[in-house]
Amino acid sequence: MTTTDGFGTPRLRRLSSLDACRADLYGGPNVAIPPKHLMASTLSHETAIEMDMAKQHLDDDISSTEGSPRAASPIAEKPITTVDDFALAFDIDGVLIRGGEAIPEAGAALKYINGENPYGVKVPYIFVTNGGGKTEEERCLDLSRQLELEVSPGQFICGHTPMREMAERYHTVLVVGGEGEKCRVVAEGYGFKDVITPGDIIKTRHDTTPFRKLTEEEHKNSRVRDFEQTRIEAIFVFADSRDWAGDQQIILDCLMSKDGHLGTRSETFDEGPPLFFSHNDVVWSTSHEHSRIGMGALRASLEALYKAVTGKELTTIAFGKPQLGTYQFAMRLLRQWRKNTHGINKPPSTVYFVGDTPDSDIRGTNEFNEISDAHWFSILVKTGVYQEGTIPRYPPKKVCNHILDAVKFAIDREMSKGDKESAIMDDADSGIDSETALRN
Ligand SMILES: [Mg+2]
Repeated sequence: MTTTDGFGTPRLRRLSSLDACRADLYGGPNVAIPPKHLMASTLSHETAIEMDMAKQHLDDDISSTEGSPRAASPIAEKPITTVDDFALAFDIDGVLIRGGEAIPEAGAALKYINGENPYGVKVPYIFVTNGGGKTEEERCLDLSRQLELEVSPGQFICGHTPMREMAERYHTVLVVGGEGEKCRVVAEGYGFKDVITPGDIIKTRHDTTPFRKLTEEEHKNSRVRDFEQTRIEAIFVFADSRDWAGDQQIILDCLMSKDGHLGTRSETFDEGPPLFFSHNDVVWSTSHEHSRIGMGALRASLEALYKAVTGKELTTIAFGKPQLGTYQFAMRLLRQWRKNTHGINKPPSTVYFVGDTPDSDIRGTNEFNEISDAHWFSILVKTGVYQEGTIPRYPPKKVCNHILDAVKFAIDREMSKGDKESAIMDDADSGIDSETALRN
């Protein structure tokens, strides 16, 4: 597999979160290192590996690590081995993070998959989130801080990551959503040559949005331009809108224009630019006890508005989960990550995907499993959007209380393959939830 997805080359650069500059971050695959006080778990883990390696040299009784993962002996007696048969993929919000804080079991779960388990194995993993609004590098620094563990952009996909592949197709684009100028920075980092924000349009024509005034900061960052000479070729909603009314007005103006020229009106309402969303999650999990509406809700609202105003149906395109393209992208990333960091030059036979949203995480995993060479196994956790007692529209293969239970289940299942319990669980693969099968 080549590195055309922009994430991996065989050499990783290690950057400090304190002194890395933007040029460093965009220069290729990096390992972003959080401030030293947050690195305790990583350092202790590396020390543990070194001690284990030294022990291997000293102890003749410990044989080669080949074939050892399936032996369930105590971790202290042998070095940590990286498994190559299977891998893990995690959603983030509602699985590892909620309301900006790590979910209580997240730390223990990550330690578990990094070797602190009864089998002494380490399992390669990636993160696949629909969230966004920041560069992948910035989001990885946030995650590193929240989880107290290094997270590399080489193991991370967010909702808008696949949009980087659109930069060659569209030159001048309207980018909507996110905080301040962050999404403009992300889009420019992806290679888009001419990026317009709603702020640019409001600054140029303040009566575009009658009730929305730019803050001092927004006014300073926004750019006045000649929209008569500008053709908006595509609209991208990169992250959640902070101003639904203003953003919808501006998106509608573009959609109803003649060929993306703001200020014009199409007579047929089918000449506007295409509209892309980085994902389609109607709700998402925050610190609030009930799910909050998200980008999928804005999409539904815009489609309804367009119909109400023009009488026509609006066709839009969403990236992210459950789109199969996102899972194909995830598989490429996983192969690259396993190769670059673990030296595994083959695809995993099973990937366990842990998510909290049946309509995106579980649906996408189950549908991708139908077409993928690898077996994609969906696990739904109860710490996010999914509420216990409800019936998910897209049933998972397994329901777990939280991320720690999910990773224990996945590793146990792999390690016990071939015995009776595995046979029971494999039977349950075709059903809704193997919990029932296991109880029988
Ligand atoms: Mg989620």
